[in-house]
Amino acid sequence: MLKEAQRCLQCKKPRCQSACPISTEIPRVIDYYLQGEVSTAGRILFENNPLSVITSLVCPHEKQCQGNCILGQKGLPLNIGEIEHMVSLNFLKQTSFFIPKQNNSMVAIVGSGPAGLTIAFLLAQKGYQVTIFEENDKTGGVLRFGIPEFRLPKQIIDLLAEKLLELGVIIRYNTLIGPILTLEDLFRDGYLAIFIGTGVWRSNKLGLKGESLGNVHFAIDYLKNPDVYRLGAVVNVIGAGNVAIDVARTAIRQGAIRVSVLYRGSEEMMTANKEEIEMAKAEGVSFLFFHQPVEFLKDGVLCHKTIIEAGKTVQLPETEFIKSDSVIISVGQGPRANIVATAKNLEISARGLIKTDPFGKTSMDGVFASGDVVTGARTVVEAVNIARRVAEEMEKYMISRRKYVNI
Ligand SMILES: Cc1cc2nc3c(=O)[nH]c(=O)nc-3n(C[C@H](O)[C@H](O)[C@H](O)COP(=O)(O)OP(=O)(O)OC[C@H]3O[C@@H](n4cnc5c(N)ncnc54)[C@H](O)[C@@H]3O)c2cc1C
Repeated sequence: MLKEAQRCLQCKKPRCQSACPISTEIPRVIDYYLQGEVSTAGRILFENNPLSVITSLVCPHEKQCQGNCILGQKGLPLNIGEIEHMVSLNFLKQTSFFIPKQNNSMVAIVGSGPAGLTIAFLLAQKGYQVTIFEENDKTGGVLRFGIPEFRLPKQIIDLLAEKLLELGVIIRYNTLIGPILTLEDLFRDGYLAIFIGTGVWRSNKLGLKGESLGNVHFAIDYLKNPDVYRLGAVVNVIGAGNVAIDVARTAIRQGAIRVSVLYRGSEEMMTANKEEIEMAKAEGVSFLFFHQPVEFLKDGVLCHKTIIEAGKTVQLPETEFIKSDSVIISVGQGPRANIVATAKNLEISARGLIKTDPFGKTSMDGVFASGDVVTGARTVVEAVNIARRVAEEMEKYMISRRKYVNI
């Protein structure tokens, strides 16, 4: 790793840093690392992005830092992700956090995905009494129950949760906010501000005949716990994004013999990262382009062939039956209504996403939100980046409230 870091040209105007959504100070971090000040390098990363140990693994680096590294113009770009991950992991393993002086203000965080974890780290370090409400029995959201272990080892999320506990954060597992405990209940019990970072966990359906058959599944349900599925030897995955690729690569690892990704467009039109597609191919996943499913059957998928005309997918009359034991539909997710169903004053968009101003303020006083539940499905680094801004706004709000209620 040292040799790799030595390749950094320490550019005066680092393009890697400008292309990073969270403006990671890459040359400065590498400089400290090369001087042997690894923990300082780690601290810089953590203070800018408490989840750098994760984003260093899962960011689409080829479109961001590494894709813009000047070394890439004539050869291999610097492996920034690996250096950042190693430095960040070292920092978290070596650093013990302590409960800071408390300011007696209670904050409720609903959801322990990247957005919720970021807010928890930032506010807990400032002495706020943070309680996270998480419907699952583990923290992480998509990091834990979406991104597969081969891309993101779950022990890293456990390490982050441990650090939150060291800071005095309380994690209330198996607690779904909305149906039983409502936002009003939280305010009644003394929380000064509430953050909603509940993500998008409702699978989009295609609305096709056969979608409820026993051999047809949705991507996010499958990824949550692939071990319980008996998919059989031949699996068709419907979709074109990164989630579809994660599903296909997981199915191969779970023992499926033939896994095909079916997509109505061309390879160039796929939204999945090129690198992920190449890795899937190398692992044996095949791709069937220009196929639009029209019906699911017990033994396969009936498709219409398609063509692209003026940039649009056009369905041809010709059909093709593609045999398979199981089908996994991966065509995106939307937000669920658990909270909005019981918080009538919380404004939502036509897609059910929570409406906020640029600082995460919702239509309800004291209630803030960010992450996928506001933006729709995006990336981890974007969730972290916006959450930093929201944490500042929540603090401003709580300071003004404290004066008002004289805490
Ligand atoms: C399969 C998959 C792979 C992905 N791969 C990548 C990748 O490689 N790189 C990348 O940058 N991005 C990736 N993404 C996108 C990224 O993971 C998300 O943008 C990010 O996780 C959003 O963070 P969040 O905190 O808003 O929500 P989430 O991660 O969805 O977390 C929301 C949390 O809230 C909890 N929750 C929901 N409702 C309630 C409630 N009512 N009460 C209590 N708890 C609740 C959920 O259980 C969950 O823990 C991927 C997404 C998927 C689905």
